[in-house]
Amino acid sequence: MDLTTLEALVQESVALKGPEPGWEFRLQALFPELVKLQEPLKRYTSIQIGGPADALVFPESEEQLATVLGFAKENRVPWMILGLGSNVLIRDGGIRGMVLRFTKTLNQFNLIEETGETVRLEAQAGVPLPKIVEMGKKQGWVGVEPLYGIPGSVGGALYMNAGTRAGEIKSVVESIKVMYQDGTIEVLPKSKLKFEYRHVKLPARGIILSGILAFSKGDPKEVQSRLAEIQQNRRDTQPLDQPSLGSVFKNPEKGFAAQMIEELGLKGVRVGGARISDKHANFIINERDATAKDVLALIGLVRDKVRDEVELRLELEAKVLGEDEPL
Ligand SMILES: Cc1cc2nc3c(=O)[nH]c(=O)nc-3n(C[C@H](O)[C@H](O)[C@H](O)COP(=O)(O)OP(=O)(O)OC[C@H]3O[C@@H](n4cnc5c(N)ncnc54)[C@H](O)[C@@H]3O)c2cc1C
Repeated sequence: MDLTTLEALVQESVALKGPEPGWEFRLQALFPELVKLQEPLKRYTSIQIGGPADALVFPESEEQLATVLGFAKENRVPWMILGLGSNVLIRDGGIRGMVLRFTKTLNQFNLIEETGETVRLEAQAGVPLPKIVEMGKKQGWVGVEPLYGIPGSVGGALYMNAGTRAGEIKSVVESIKVMYQDGTIEVLPKSKLKFEYRHVKLPARGIILSGILAFSKGDPKEVQSRLAEIQQNRRDTQPLDQPSLGSVFKNPEKGFAAQMIEELGLKGVRVGGARISDKHANFIINERDATAKDVLALIGLVRDKVRDEVELRLELEAKVLGEDEPL
């Protein structure tokens, strides 16, 4: 065996090892104010489900985030980002490694340019999207309409290319600032971003730090009246007063997931504390102390029925993350 092959094998076996034991305590000692150990994630998701994270970390600046990523690499700790948790189902066993969250810290936005026709703003990943939409509503920004009522963060909305039938966030994006795993930062103009249905493709695994969004100015009264209509429509068709994770399935190329599920008679079906909403068949609600296992059982049931009766495989829009509870 030559030296290069031997080195590669040694590196591979090091990489296969899990994180360095005791990493959580070392991380907490480094950032006592920013790290919570064994924190239940159901407190951070809109469906109020999710087991504990080994370490939930709230980096306060880009520099701190880079240091945390460096720590993760050195100690072989896996990590993931949690935005406002409005499109994730975290399994009952929780998440091994670090969960990074910005909504307490990297949560500022400011106007960078305003002319008679347009307004441009820079928003950090942790800003709740509804904050921007509210400002747009007051001032009459055209382009906020498809984002109205989406309860996520700017980072989550960009990552998911959030939107509705009326449009997606991509229409108002100028650029996205990303940090890669090695701590380097790149500003990606729209031309370098590949927006897809409920996803944006970045050149490599990265964390969205902020985005520049541009809206055109319209008549505030007209924008407000369109938003009032959208709000009423959401109230009439979505179970907004119950914990959920938004649309569970992506719409297939032809047709709508909600309509298919409804036509199969699945509205109102319950497993444990979870139930397919009576109001919107593509929403699963946490009716009473539901577990991720309950929700996953409903997801499985819908998928099986759609596969058998419509001969179609429904894809998940919501992200299912983490581990099952140990038996
Ligand atoms: C009542 C309700 C209505 C909804 N209506 C809509 C709708 O009309 N249209 C729509 O598109 N969605 C809708 N959603 C789903 C959800 O609000 C959106 O997908 C939202 O964009 C998710 O943002 P978040 O911050 O909650 O992300 P999370 O749910 O926390 O995360 C979603 C994904 O984004 C990743 N992510 C989050 N932040 C970052 C970051 N900074 N960098 C890299 N990756 C990141 C996470 O790792 C995860 O993979 C709805 C949800 C609910 C509960």
